Order: sequence, then structure tokens, then C-alpha cells
Amino acid sequence: MSISVSHVTKSYGAQKALDDVSFSISKGEIAAFIGPNGAGKSTMMRIITGFLAPDTGEVTVCGLPTGPGMTEVRRLIGYLPENNPLYADMYVREYLGYVADIYKMGRKRREAVKSVIERTGLAPEQNKKIGALSKGFRQRVGLAQALIHDPQVLILDEATTGLDPNQIIEIRNLISEVGTERTVMLSTHIMQEVEAICSKVIIIDYGRIVADGSLAEISAIAGSSLEDTFRQLTGK
Ligand code: ADP
Ligand code: MG
Repeated sequence: MSISVSHVTKSYGAQKALDDVSFSISKGEIAAFIGPNGAGKSTMMRIITGFLAPDTGEVTVCGLPTGPGMTEVRRLIGYLPENNPLYADMYVREYLGYVADIYKMGRKRREAVKSVIERTGLAPEQNKKIGALSKGFRQRVGLAQALIHDPQVLILDEATTGLDPNQIIEIRNLISEVGTERTVMLSTHIMQEVEAICSKVIIIDYGRIVADGSLAEISAIAGSSLEDTFRQLTGK
């Protein structure tokens, strides 16, 4: 299993964000992690990427336990956080070099920056300041920083939220391209996006997993569409 989550619970004070969550995602899969606002998606993704510790339960990525301070497993994970926080004053190429330095790439740094700029279609924008880019290109920079160390597992938290329809298609295509050789877990509010690129679907509501299966299995729960199943299970 690329991602294995077992009986994870997490509360913020009195607010329970995750309640006995278990699921797994196999190698090479593109899995959708969907649920209404506040369901616990971002919290789960922060735990998988090791930015947050669960209260109870275990998470492994490629067989290694993950958590704060576990640097070895971090190298296997690329993470695009919700709202894609970036340094507006840095130039695209400069920023990606900075990220490469965090991963201590040494002699591979130059080639890694060049290659990720090509793969994410950033070549024409590489000498611009991040703050001057369109939202679509900013998302490409977010994807580039997640991909620069060539991770086996990609965690993408609402990568297409806030983009216009053309930008959504572009980023979606890019995700399915880079997803051919890695495991991807993505959250989104767009059901067509899930239907277009995901093989597996996990639905979370109020911190609990309410469905987990193949796209066809989950769509069949309420009849024929993922949208109907989502509405039936979450009331949204
Ligand atoms: P989602 O990404 O599905 O919208 P989140 O994981 O962001 O859900 O949030 C799950 C629940 O935890 C929500 O009720 C949210 O208000 C709460 N929550 C998230 N982050 C914090 C925090 N830092 N402090 C307190 N409550 C939080
Ligand atoms: Mg979220």
C-alpha cells in the first residue's frame, strides 16, 4: 500500500475533526478524497504528510510511519496544501531552487529545477515574480514545488479550487499526466473531476468515512452517478 491509514482520530480542542478513520490507497492509484466543507479532508492530508500528529491511530506512506519530524518519509511525499501558500515576491525559478535546497538536492538541484519547470509548463513564466502570475500558473508553481524531489506519493488539497474552467482542465490534465507514475490522493469539490481522472473514491463526512471503493462501486450506491451518491450519503 502506498498510503495506509488505520483508526485515526484527531480533535482540535472540543472539535472532533477525524473519528476512527481507516482507508488505504494502492500504488499507482489516483484516489479522490471528497466530502463537504469541514468534513476533515485537510486535517487528514496534513496528518498523512506529517505536518500534524493524530491523537490516536497509525499512518504509513510506502510502508514507513509518517509524522512530524520524520524526514525520511517526507522525501517520498509531494504536498500541495489548500490555498497553495507561496512567496509572492520570489521569482518562479528562484522559488523552485529554494524548495530544491530544502530537500538538499546538491548537484541535482539545477537539473531538478529545469526539469520540473518543463514538466509543469512553467518555462514561459519562470523569470516572473510569483505574485505577477495568473491563478492557473500559480497552481502550476504549487504543483512544481510538490514534484521537484520526484516523490512517489502526491497529496493535492483542492488543487483546482478557484480556477476558471480552462485552467481547471489544464491542471487536471497535468495531474493525470504526473499521476501515471505515482500514487495520487486529491481532494476536490468537482465531481466531474473525480469521474475524469480518479479510479478510487473515498467519501468523508463529519470526520467519518462513509464510502470507500472504486469509482464504479461508489457511483452505483445511489444509482448511476457519483453526484447522486455524494448527495445521498452527505445530504449536500
Ligand atoms: P475540510 O478540509 O474537509 O474542509 P478540515 O480538516 O479543514 O475540513 O476541518 C475539519 C474540522 O476541524 C472543521 O470543523 C474545522 O472547523 C476544524 N478545524 C480545522 N482546523 C482547525 C484548527 N486549526 N483549529 C480548530 N479547528 C479546526
Ligand atoms: Mg480543506
